[in-house]
Amino acid sequence: MSATHDAFDTDLFVIGGGSGGVRAARMAAQRGARVMLAEALGQHGLGGTCVNLGCIPKKLYSYAAHYGHAFHEAAGFGWQAPSPRFDWSVLQENRRKEIARLNGVYAGLLAGSGVQMLAARAGLADPHTVVLDDGRRFRARHILIATGGRPHVPDFPGSEHVLTSDAIFDLSPFPARLLVVGGGYIACEFASIFNGLGARVTQLYRGPQILRGFDHDIARFLTDETRKKGVDLRLHADVASIAPTPGGLQVQLIDGSALEVDAVLYATGRKPNVDGLHLAAAGIAQQPDGAIITDAHYRTSAPSVFAVGDVIGRVQLTPVALAEAMVVVDLLFGDGQRGISYDYIPTAVFTDPNVGTVGLSEAQARERCGDITVFCSEFRALKHTLSGSSERTLMKLIVDRASDRVVGLHMVGPDAGEIVQGFAVAMKAGATKAVFDSTIGIHPTAAEEFVTMRTPVAS
Ligand code: FAD
Ligand code: NDP
Repeated sequence: MSATHDAFDTDLFVIGGGSGGVRAARMAAQRGARVMLAEALGQHGLGGTCVNLGCIPKKLYSYAAHYGHAFHEAAGFGWQAPSPRFDWSVLQENRRKEIARLNGVYAGLLAGSGVQMLAARAGLADPHTVVLDDGRRFRARHILIATGGRPHVPDFPGSEHVLTSDAIFDLSPFPARLLVVGGGYIACEFASIFNGLGARVTQLYRGPQILRGFDHDIARFLTDETRKKGVDLRLHADVASIAPTPGGLQVQLIDGSALEVDAVLYATGRKPNVDGLHLAAAGIAQQPDGAIITDAHYRTSAPSVFAVGDVIGRVQLTPVALAEAMVVVDLLFGDGQRGISYDYIPTAVFTDPNVGTVGLSEAQARERCGDITVFCSEFRALKHTLSGSSERTLMKLIVDRASDRVVGLHMVGPDAGEIVQGFAVAMKAGATKAVFDSTIGIHPTAAEEFVTMRTPVAS
């Protein structure tokens, strides 16, 4: 750490007050560094995408959506209640209050650690100088760019009529008919959420199978479950044009068919937030899509400037941005020993039912390990023997035959995100199938299936 308070106004200047930026600023300040953080505070408070327009409000809406089915399922367990009615404005208002509380928590954490917070948009004048949109300039020994990303909508006739995930949380009135375009995390999650909340949802995906890159059985199984829950999920389908009508939006599809909806959500990926940063002025190299190029310690091509999180376009997940921020802080103000392995990053898609996954898909495992054994189990969860729901659960293990190591673990089912987090620890530790087999299950749970699968389905 810089002990000399020299020509620099600060030891670390962080641009962006989201997951990565706040974590880096706070941890650096706690290690005694002088830290400034600039956050543009566009349409939201501190905390970035995750807190304001991502993980947290999404998960709150996902909880709300689960009640839609749960009320009906309760009847099989003896509960009788008048038909429940959903009030979208109550959910929106309660979400706003909770997010405002979290914005305050973040501001308190920064202030409490001694970080100087600047409510402004920032850019670079050179590798050591940050310029704010109000004209103030600061000389920084090190600069960290953690400006995240924003939704990307392709250009087509009528694209100005679509919404992105940024606007969906406050959409009003509630869309009785919603079209969702995309087959990734955000499209699948919001199709499921609005279906659960009572909208008539159509989801279009341009390719043969949603969740590209996930295990093929998982993607296929989620497709079936999503359709069973009521989403009209269409594959090999895309929008040709959109035009407003007195009754809503008229959507023309590329196959010549048409549908009328109240709103269209485009969830077709995100682009790094680099506009106005003047990266060229600091000599910072970028990928063709704008993502900032860094080395293993998140140092850019300008040695005093670092970048983490969605803006580097590697793995767009909050825990990854946090981990990357910690590597930078450790390098600059600690012993520099910290690193990250991008293997075995667990992840969940918060659909109904959830997807939880860690490690290699079957296709990746075949390519990397060659000889593998696959274990798969599909069943109706105990709860649904009385609930009346036809929902099924899928669990899958992929084992490298040479080492016996479990290299892939995947699930579609209730609480898959919660279940897979624990197994991810075992897999990071190198657990073999023999270790899984010798682990006693917790009965009766769905999770016990992962330690009781004995018969391979393919090899
Ligand atoms: P961000 O959190 O986006 O923060 C960047 C900040 O920089 C913003 O506050 C922005 O205002 C600010 N900024 C930008 N430019 C400037 C500038 N020039 N000057 C000053 N400030 C600037 N991840 C999960 O792990 N789990 C989930 O369930 C999950 N759900 C998601 C749901 C949705 C709908 C979305 C969109 C994302 C979700 N993500 C989820 C991804 C997660 O939100 C991101 O990976 C994470 O927020 C990235 O953190 P970050 O620090 O890189 O950027
Ligand atoms: P994704 O990259 O996950 O998915 C984008 C989807 O849009 C893909 O299905 C893609 O198809 C499709 N698409 C891309 N371009 C077009 C186009 N021009 N026309 C039609 N379809 C198109 O991005 P998301 O926006 O869903 O999410 C961004 C990231 O945020 C995720 O990758 C994830 O890292 C993070 N996130 C994490 C969540 C979680 O942890 N639960 C939840 C939400 C977001 P194709 O596959 O064919 O390219």
